[in-house]
Amino acid sequence: MAEFNPFAVVQQQVDRCAEILKLDAGVHDMLRRPMREVWVSLPVRMDDGSTRVFQGFRVQYNDARGPTKGGLRFHPEENIDTVRALAAWMTWKCALMDIPLGGGKGGIVCNPKEMSQGELERVSRAYVRALGRLIGPDRDVPAPDVYTNPQIMAWMMDEYSRLEGANQFGVITGKPPALGGSAGRGDATARGGWYVIREAAKECGTDLAGARVAVQGYGNAGYYAAHLGHTLFGCKVVAVSDSRGGILAEEGLDPEHVAAHKAETGSVAGLPGTEPISNAELLGLEVDILIPAALENVLTGENAGDVRASIVAELANGPTSPEADSILHRNGVHVLPDFLCNAGGVTVSYFEMVQNLYMFYWDEEEVHQRLDAKMTTAYHAVLETAQRLDVNMREAAYAVAVRHVAEAMQLRGWV
Ligand code: NAD
Repeated sequence: MAEFNPFAVVQQQVDRCAEILKLDAGVHDMLRRPMREVWVSLPVRMDDGSTRVFQGFRVQYNDARGPTKGGLRFHPEENIDTVRALAAWMTWKCALMDIPLGGGKGGIVCNPKEMSQGELERVSRAYVRALGRLIGPDRDVPAPDVYTNPQIMAWMMDEYSRLEGANQFGVITGKPPALGGSAGRGDATARGGWYVIREAAKECGTDLAGARVAVQGYGNAGYYAAHLGHTLFGCKVVAVSDSRGGILAEEGLDPEHVAAHKAETGSVAGLPGTEPISNAELLGLEVDILIPAALENVLTGENAGDVRASIVAELANGPTSPEADSILHRNGVHVLPDFLCNAGGVTVSYFEMVQNLYMFYWDEEEVHQRLDAKMTTAYHAVLETAQRLDVNMREAAYAVAVRHVAEAMQLRGWV
C-alpha cells in the first residue's frame, strides 16, 4: 500500500471543492499550496550532556483573512506533509467559523514520552528562538495539539516575551489561566464537538440520553469527549481506546474511572471490569456516535463499510480518507467533518487572543455561550449548503470555508 500522505488528501479535497464551486484557476492554485513554510534545526542540550538536533517545521498556509493560527505537535513521526495538511485544515476551519484568522501549523520531530521536563522546555524554547519574528500576535499564533500542553505554551510565551523585551501573552494560546489562558480552553475542542453533535442528533432523530458512544483516543480531545458526553447529555460511553489498546463495557464506562486508570498506568487498557478491544474493533462497534479523537487516516476504504454508527464526529484532524468519505455518505452515515466538529479549540483560542488584547477576562459561562453560538451557526450553515448543493457534509464545509478565503484573496488583489 502507498504511504499515506495527508497533504495529498487535502489537495484532492480542494480539487473537488474547485469543481463544486467552479473556482477561478488562480484561486484554486493558491488554495492547493502553502503560502510559506519554515524548516528549523534545533540543537538541544540533553540531560546526559550530549547535544541532539531536532527537526522543526512551521507552515503558514494562508493569511488572507488574518494572522495565521494553528497548533504545534510534538511527535516522533511528524513530517512536513502532515504539517501542511493540518495548516490547510486550519485555514478552512477559521474561515468556516468566521474567525478573522488564517491557518498555520507546526511540529517538532521528537518523542515527549522519552524526554525529561528540562529537555522538553529546552526544545520548546529553541523552537521559538529559531522562528523569531515569523510568529507573533499579529503574524502567526501557535497553540497546543498532539503531545503539547499548557506548560509548553507557557515556556514558549515566556521565550517570545524575552525576545521582545515585553510580555506578549497573545503570541500563543492554550496557556495556563494564570498566564492569560482563557476559561474553558481545556475542554473546548470536545465541548464544541458536542454542541455540533447535539444539532446533528436533532437532524438524525437520535436521542442523546442513553445514546451509545465509542471514542478512539483518550487525550485532550478524547477524554473530554467521553466526559462531556456522559455528564452533559447522559450518553453511554461503551468503548474508548488509546495508542496502547482499548476497552469495552456494554453497561457504560465511567470516564473519570478510565482517566484515573490511565493516569496511574499510562493507558486506558486493562481497566478492571472491562473487556479488551482493539482500535479496529472499536471503529466497527454497534453505537450511535463514533468519535475518532486520535490521529489521521483511521477510517479508510478498507474499514469504512464496517462503521455502524449513525453519526461520525471527527474530533481528530483528517481521520477519514476520501474513499471512506464516499462509503460513509453512501451508507447514510452523518459525518461531522473535522474542521467543523473540532473547531471549538481554535474558537476558544481566538477568544483567548481577544481577551489577551483587551486584558479583560470572561467567565466560563460566557465562553460556553459564545462557543455554542459559533458552533451551532457553523453546523447549520454546512447542513444547509449540503442540502442545497446536494453534496456531502465535508464538501459542504469546504464550500462555505473556501468561499470566505477566496473572497478575501480577491479583495486583497492576490488573485
Ligand atoms: P493528545 O496528545 O492529548 O491525545 C492523543 C491521544 O490519541 C492519546 O490518548 C493517544 O494515546 C491516542 N493515540 C495516539 N495514537 C493512537 C492510535 N494509533 N490509536 C488510538 N489512539 C491513539 O492529543 P489531542 O489534543 O487530544 O489531539 C487528538 C486529535 O484531535 C488530533 O488529531 C488533533 O489534531 C485533534 N485536535 C485537537 C485539538 C485540541 O485542542 N487539543 C483541537 C482540534 C483538533
